[in-house]
Amino acid sequence: MSPERERELLASVPTQLFIGGRWRDAAGGRTFDVQDPATGQTIASVADGTSEDAMAAMDAAAAAQSSWALTAPRTRAEILRSAFEILTRRTEDFALLMTLEMGKPLAEARGEVAYGAEFLRWFSEEAVRDYGRFTNSPEGKNRILVQRKPVGPCLLITPWNFPLAMVTRKVAPAIAAGCTMILKPAKLTPLTAQLFTEVMIEAGLPAGVLNLVAGTSAASISGAVMKDPRLRKVSFTGSTEVGKRLLSDASGNVLRTSMELGGNAPFIVFEDADLDKAVEGALIAKMRNMGQACTAANRFLVHESVEREFSQKLSLAVQGLKTGRGTDPENKVGPLISEDARRDVHALVEGAVWDGAEILTGGSVGAGEGYFYAPTVLSNVPPKSQILQTEIFGPIAPVTRFHNEDEAVVLANSTQYGLAAYVYTADFNRGQRLSDKLEFGMIGYNTGALSNAAAPFGGVKQSGLGREGGAEGISEYTTTQYMALPDP
Ligand code: NAD
Repeated sequence: MSPERERELLASVPTQLFIGGRWRDAAGGRTFDVQDPATGQTIASVADGTSEDAMAAMDAAAAAQSSWALTAPRTRAEILRSAFEILTRRTEDFALLMTLEMGKPLAEARGEVAYGAEFLRWFSEEAVRDYGRFTNSPEGKNRILVQRKPVGPCLLITPWNFPLAMVTRKVAPAIAAGCTMILKPAKLTPLTAQLFTEVMIEAGLPAGVLNLVAGTSAASISGAVMKDPRLRKVSFTGSTEVGKRLLSDASGNVLRTSMELGGNAPFIVFEDADLDKAVEGALIAKMRNMGQACTAANRFLVHESVEREFSQKLSLAVQGLKTGRGTDPENKVGPLISEDARRDVHALVEGAVWDGAEILTGGSVGAGEGYFYAPTVLSNVPPKSQILQTEIFGPIAPVTRFHNEDEAVVLANSTQYGLAAYVYTADFNRGQRLSDKLEFGMIGYNTGALSNAAAPFGGVKQSGLGREGGAEGISEYTTTQYMALPDP
């Protein structure tokens, strides 16, 4: 990728706030810098939204809500479909932009564009399936008419690790349901959301429906809006820690909430599993996005009889992954998002080694510029080691052994999180037994890839509340209203 192409793309990204159908500077005129994590260089400066801007966005969202709720579902569907087409046509722009601001390799970034765009298409198809219900009351005296209505203006807060898909996964169902919204992207990766807003404008979204407020003070943006009684919902994707704070803030106005929080996914490999397939799945579930995914395999639980073989095969496969700036197609593993992230990951590796783990490959901080960390495989990690208790968010695969199925289930469930789990076994009955016993919202059975716009994405326990995607996704943005009809 040529430096001119990068400069040209960056120069084309809008950097202001988008409120009430108009691009504008932040109140006070401040901006903040966005870095390329592969170089540490500043690549753009974006308007730094304040609580005052957030309130202007609230005004715009509230003003647009009633007319937007009354638009025909087909109109909303066609805007989403058109956005899908525009985004797909601009795949290369969005892919490169994500590689530049977030670091993921271009091939993965293209995959995220396809996945992110799919939410626009999926919810364009869901928008017109706005089913209500009509029933006779059990007494046979009157009738019950139920319709679904949009919940109202929403605050959508997204993380940095999937700068496009986490945005479309919220914006698309909100549009489909007839909600207006204020979008607050992560300060580390606002550019993708900025460019995506342009796509929605081109697709014909009316003024005030989508308002974009990026900024460095997330709490002052969310705090101002969440105290306003016109806001009806907050949908958040991010860490469990921040999610809990927002749940508490949401209680003030009794807001509807959707919380897509952290994960600590077990990746269980039984003695009858196809180990080559398991390694293939492990590379996807672990190394994609440099391990910075809420669904990332975090704890490799492998039957004692195949642990050594699996660890060695995985280690060999990981050694084949070239690390470097994601713009070079040769590179399969990009940088971590920041120096802090890299320091935390390295501390977890050092702690595991201190606890008795063995480094099979990796375990070192990358030399030179950027926040690179060598893809790492650790074996013999003791179950109590800190690295197995926390979300690693890095390209580290810690492997530990189990003796039998019951122990595997106990180890897998021994976490506060309950987002994703992966199970590799040739025995389908065992796969089904495991899905009954595992306390996770999503299970990959002999596959390391889970995400699909048509499936309900979400977790249990401290991984969150609600689902995104699937038939469930739109109902997060609707409420029911029932009308009692008299006996004719
Ligand atoms: P984060 O919680 O630090 O930030 C997420 C978003 O919340 C950002 O936009 C941030 O600016 C904002 N935020 C931070 N503090 C806030 C506050 N006090 N009030 C309001 N908003 C605030 O998370 P992150 O580091 O951006 O993302 C990584 C986390 O996201 C990981 O825990 C990961 O597992 C989780 N995640 C979950 C899913 C899922 O679907 N379950 C998907 C992707 C990421």
